Amino acid sequence: MIRVPRLECYHVAKVLQSYLDGEAEPATSSVVAAHLETCRRCGLEAQTYLAIKAALAVGSQDPTSVEPDAVDRLKRFAERLSSPGED
Ligand SMILES: [Zn+2]
Repeated sequence: MIRVPRLECYHVAKVLQSYLDGEAEPATSSVVAAHLETCRRCGLEAQTYLAIKAALAVGSQDPTSVEPDAVDRLKRFAERLSSPGED
């Protein structure tokens, strides 16, 4: 069995940041919102991104307060989706 992320996950990963920034099209937003309700992995990534955003907004004098792990995890998530086969 080949582990390939669901098509929805590819789509969500591409637009997740725009969605969370409120910049996605309304049609896209509803698709992403519905997906995040049902996909735990994307939901977690959305939370991670929001946590990073919040940390950046709150701790703007101290950007090192952002958890490096969270940023790395988000990067790996995007990379994993664009290159299926490794997990
Ligand atoms: Zn997903």
